[in-house]
Amino acid sequence: MARSPKNNKREQPARTVPTRQRLSSNQRGYNYQWQQARISWLQANPVCAECKWIDVPRNMVIDHIQPHRGGRLLFWDRTNWQTLCRNCHDQKTGRGE
Ligand SMILES: [Zn+2]
Repeated sequence: MARSPKNNKREQPARTVPTRQRLSSNQRGYNYQWQQARISWLQANPVCAECKWIDVPRNMVIDHIQPHRGGRLLFWDRTNWQTLCRNCHDQKTGRGE
């Protein structure tokens, strides 16, 4: 046994932390409570704010107009919500949110 398992290589933590990597839904605050709020919102507001596409809730996305960045207040502020279809949402987030 020449090497101690503690002191192998890993002194330098990887500098490029994958911040763009998607966190799990729960980490982002999208928990059960959100799922419920989301469904009722999308049932009441089924129209995409961008292209006026209408679809069932599971094909639509609630977009935070002002990025909430984890802030509960903005996250739950329904005046900060808009309905987007997946296409428009992907285009928005593809531009860097
Ligand atoms: Zn759209």
